[in-house]
Amino acid sequence: MQTRPVIPFGTMLKTLMVVSAPSLLVLSLFAVLGELDFNYFIYGYFGIMLISAVFVVPFLSNISALTHYVNDLSMDKRVRSPDLSFLSNVGELSGALNRLQRSWENKRQEMETVITEREILVDTLPDILIMTNDDKMVVRTNRAARNIFGQNLAHRPLREIIPNDQLMNAITAVIEDLQGQEVEFYMEDPAPRDFHAIIERFPIPSEGGISIVITLTDITQQKRIQRMRADFVANASHEIRTPLASIIGFIETLRGPAKDDEGARDEFLRVMADQAERMSKLVNDLLSLSKIEMNAHTLPVAKVDLLRIIRSEKQHFEWACKQKNVTLRLKLTDTLPPTRGEDEELAQVVRNLLGNAIKYTNPDTEVVLTAKLTSQLPDDPSMRSLSRAITFSVQDHGEGISREHIPRLTERFYRVDTARTRKVGGTGLGLAIVKHVLNRHHGVMTIESEVSQGSTFSVFLPVYDDVVQPGDRKEDEYADEGML
Ligand code: ADP
Repeated sequence: MQTRPVIPFGTMLKTLMVVSAPSLLVLSLFAVLGELDFNYFIYGYFGIMLISAVFVVPFLSNISALTHYVNDLSMDKRVRSPDLSFLSNVGELSGALNRLQRSWENKRQEMETVITEREILVDTLPDILIMTNDDKMVVRTNRAARNIFGQNLAHRPLREIIPNDQLMNAITAVIEDLQGQEVEFYMEDPAPRDFHAIIERFPIPSEGGISIVITLTDITQQKRIQRMRADFVANASHEIRTPLASIIGFIETLRGPAKDDEGARDEFLRVMADQAERMSKLVNDLLSLSKIEMNAHTLPVAKVDLLRIIRSEKQHFEWACKQKNVTLRLKLTDTLPPTRGEDEELAQVVRNLLGNAIKYTNPDTEVVLTAKLTSQLPDDPSMRSLSRAITFSVQDHGEGISREHIPRLTERFYRVDTARTRKVGGTGLGLAIVKHVLNRHHGVMTIESEVSQGSTFSVFLPVYDDVVQPGDRKEDEYADEGML
């Protein structure tokens, strides 16, 4: 609703006096010439003032309304154009005002649309955007920034939000140097993260100052993979260097001090053969791992009969079982539906689990391999859409594994007892291979173990027709150090 404009009393008086000035002059002339009595002069003047007021007040009120209207427009308020009945005949004022109002409204809507579109664009960027002034006070942020650092970031010092010296120094350099900068930094809060920051400056012509725009990309995952790769290369080199150093040492000894010592030569050659064998196993495991990783995101298509694989793999362990007097007992169901898989990769899973059970079980004990169809599925995202699965488990009677080690067993080169594992010829890669094969086959492994009692490693694989398609599976389930 429009309020009626108030005309200041001074303005009204001044205008009335100006308007009535010619009449006052005429009255005064008559009074001076003695044609008008003083009383009639006063009455006449007030009469003229009153009649002038009848015309002047609505006129002034229209002008005052027009002033308010222009003021409101300049302050970007949404107002209706005023009713200027007394000014409407002053040229085309009313029409002009309406056109001004419409064009103003159109411009405002265009601007609002542009601003909204830009905000949507900036808000949907996955990168974090923060704009500060040259005092490093936050001016604007996008949604990604607010999701990470919280709401209400504007008007706060950037250092309070990201207390990182590297970033702050880079911003200072950009403010002083005119040059953009890039920097990588690590933050503990609100969650441990690595960021790559691009800092740029932009002049603001209207204010004569500058804006600093900071774009942050979350590179935590990239850094993690880089660190894992570096660790992996370091570990693999270390694993290969140890047997290599030992072989080189024995060769030196055989060439020098033990040159003519027949007994030592036989013993050294036997150790060298063992070390060469260890290196060869390691290289084979590394190659398997890299091959499996290369195919990690392609679902195998062949129908695989797991019972056939188990029976065939059993034969490879007869000699190892004899050596430790271990009985390998198979408890297999008569028939199993096929699973979707790659023969050689699933054979490697059976081989690695059976191999470990025989390696780590106590002499004169039994290793039991069970295979069946089950509806008792582990609580794992890959199994949630299934009602049944093919399972096989390998149970040994060895030293067992204490609870804290279990989640880490599938990490590459992780060993519970390094000395014991080396003695039995382990590479530390067997379970990592199992995990990668199972990820590719949408399978799951569970480990149950009791110290000094033994361990049971169980594998669950979907039945051929029940396999969930790749699109149904979340990408992070392939994560390298995810579930077992
Ligand atoms: P390795 O080739 O050294 O056996 P794995 O990746 O197969 O490597 O196993 C990782 C570690 O897990 C082993 O070094 C061993 O400490 C432990 N482990 C695996 N299987 C068993 C088992 N059946 N009983 C006890 N410990 C085991």
